[in-house]
Amino acid sequence: MTTSHPTGNSTQAQYDALKAKNLKLNMQRGQPSDADFDLSNGLLTILGEGEYMAGKLDTRNYPGGVQGLPEARELFGKYLDVKAANTIVWNNASLELQGFVLTAALLHGLKGSPKPWIRLEGKPKMIVTVPGYDRHFLLLETLGFELLTVEMQDDGPDVDAIEKLVSDELVKGLLFVPTYSNPGGESISAAKAQRLAGLKAAAPDFTIFADDAYRVHHLFEDDRDLPVNLVQLCAEAGHPDRAVVFASTSKITLAGAGLGFMASSEANITYLSKLLNAQSIGPNKVEQLRHVKFFEQYPGGVEGLMRRHAALLAPKFQAVHDVLSAELGEGGQYASWKSPKGGYFVSLDTALPVAERVVELAEQAGVSLTPAGATYPGGKDPHNRNIRLSPSRPPVAEVREAMQAVALCIKLASEEYRAQQA
Ligand code: PMP
Repeated sequence: MTTSHPTGNSTQAQYDALKAKNLKLNMQRGQPSDADFDLSNGLLTILGEGEYMAGKLDTRNYPGGVQGLPEARELFGKYLDVKAANTIVWNNASLELQGFVLTAALLHGLKGSPKPWIRLEGKPKMIVTVPGYDRHFLLLETLGFELLTVEMQDDGPDVDAIEKLVSDELVKGLLFVPTYSNPGGESISAAKAQRLAGLKAAAPDFTIFADDAYRVHHLFEDDRDLPVNLVQLCAEAGHPDRAVVFASTSKITLAGAGLGFMASSEANITYLSKLLNAQSIGPNKVEQLRHVKFFEQYPGGVEGLMRRHAALLAPKFQAVHDVLSAELGEGGQYASWKSPKGGYFVSLDTALPVAERVVELAEQAGVSLTPAGATYPGGKDPHNRNIRLSPSRPPVAEVREAMQAVALCIKLASEEYRAQQA
């Protein structure tokens, strides 16, 4: 096919040639690939007809309570490094559990709350880390929280900044991702986790909401971040009810049909179970039984499955890094980016304030990226520099192609910006 696009080697000409390819690539959402899902297809048939008993409990019927199957609590308690008694295993989506606990705090207060958070003399405030996860911001903003941002540093949230913010009684908590954070892949150090656990906060019910979505999502065998145990650290620091940790199997088994679960002090679990019991007779126990049986028979259990995910994911992260380095250099002239040891994302910062333009150019060239600004509350990045890249879903060849396009868009947007400034 002949084209009437400009020839030559200018960045604009290269971009026009890119557009003419009519690509249709998506690096937008952190979804597993079909190959990842296929690793868990065994879940679909693990229970034969008649295999619905969990010990003496008939998973088809109502009885069983809201805390989840004992076997599932044992399994995911281990996963979070706590006892079964410290867990609730619920349905698909840990975000739903996060919404439940936050709503409970607003309407009733948490254990140790002087009053429900909606009855405070002002909007309740929540600290979040930036760049961060857009759905955390959406959830908190929808529930009416005022968001206070602190920077996510290489070893976790900026605790110095948090220490200053918590002198305000309206600051009720911190919501963050402790392991392989979204989008930067940073993990909190043991030292920082300890500081958070011992924090002197004006609010007596200051709560650490830790969304540990990527706790075991290592990319490498021999270079891993060690997850922290915030429930235990808070207990040791004399704040036993301070931490609520959330996680799910969304990036382990099936993103749309896994299990969400949480861990906290036994007192919190008892308190929250009572509230949960008012709105549900219980979670889907058949799904819980399926997960229990599936991991019982899976070679190496959760760890074994995660190794197979890593084998699929690591080459995609490598492709992002290789293409960006080759196209943009590693000196930071156009952009700098993280090379995480786990999780689902690569966080990229453009050197100039052109993130929005990069995403727009990429979109016009058929490469869909997470909207610029999504990693900040209100969808507004004050520096217009951060872009979240999600390489998990497309095959490696498409990740390469998409990243080549993104690199070109970064060059073009930077040149446009410089020309405007000249
Ligand atoms: N938390 C974080 C940090 C995530 O990145 C994601 C998925 N992108 C989720 C939660 C969603 O988890 P779930 O499916 O369990 O609601």
